[in-house]
Amino acid sequence: MEQYGLLGFPLLYSLSPPMHRAAFQAIGRQATYSLWPVEAADLGRRLAELRQAAAVRGFNVTVPHKEAVLTKIDELAPAAEAIGAVNTVRKVGSKLIGDNTDARGFIASLQETGVSASGARALVLGAGGAARAVCYGLLKVGVEEIYLLNRTRARAEALIASLADQRIRLVDAPSTLEVLSTLDLVVNATSCQEPWLAFGLAAEVVWPLGQGLAVDLAYGDMLGAYLSTAAASGWQTLSGEGMLLHQAAAAFELWTGQPAPVSAMRIALRKALVSND
Ligand code: NAP
Repeated sequence: MEQYGLLGFPLLYSLSPPMHRAAFQAIGRQATYSLWPVEAADLGRRLAELRQAAAVRGFNVTVPHKEAVLTKIDELAPAAEAIGAVNTVRKVGSKLIGDNTDARGFIASLQETGVSASGARALVLGAGGAARAVCYGLLKVGVEEIYLLNRTRARAEALIASLADQRIRLVDAPSTLEVLSTLDLVVNATSCQEPWLAFGLAAEVVWPLGQGLAVDLAYGDMLGAYLSTAAASGWQTLSGEGMLLHQAAAAFELWTGQPAPVSAMRIALRKALVSND
């Protein structure tokens, strides 16, 4: 039987197994999806094992290994290279090919709202791995401009330098207020539940300045008041649940070469999130 799994640590709980198991079941494919906890010191050895195991066809990678695997696998897809992190590995023979489906997941979830990122003006809060994936995805689909606001300026500068696209520019909190009325999209890609507060701004002041789609990459019980305060000022809202779903669907398609049964995966994800509450 084919084997798939998730490499990370400590992996106490993950929403990936219910989504992928539901997907395999929906298309009648005999496959398992397991949690494979591995500490950083054992990562190289574990990757060598997975390379040799014929039944293993692919796997996901999560914290803390997303960057570490970049230099330990055989090939990188352009998205993984540009984002600087791997979340999905597919095997071709014993070759491990690293990819990153977060950007595809983000864009697919955006498409479900009916909001087009093509020609849009976006503000991205944060400059970590998730922000990189969001910026990469937005640039790919033809965003007009991305303003990037992050607590640590050097990290934002590094992101901008590595994506090397003149459509991204750094902003500080005061100038964010000046551009807000021109934005179509504001994405919280920080790990803060109240990002405006973290930047010294008040949600009640910020949201009324504009009108568009507010996205929080958090989902389930990680969501704070960011989306509800946006909705109160008339913004359309989107949580990170769709991105989570569609990054998994994209991984599934890379592994199997078949269209992902997204409805079955969505139901499994919803059920897992509800039973988690
Ligand atoms: P990360 O690499 O650790 O980056 C965290 C970001 O949050 C950085 O920009 C950091 O700023 C900022 N931040 C953290 N604490 C802050 C504070 N107190 N004040 C201001 N800024 C702060 O994390 P990540 O992987 O990018 O994940 C970010 C969020 O996206 C998390 O909530 C994660 O759950 C979510 N996410 C969702 C999905 C999905 O599929 N829906 C996928 C990936 C991630 P500094 O640079 O200044 O430290």
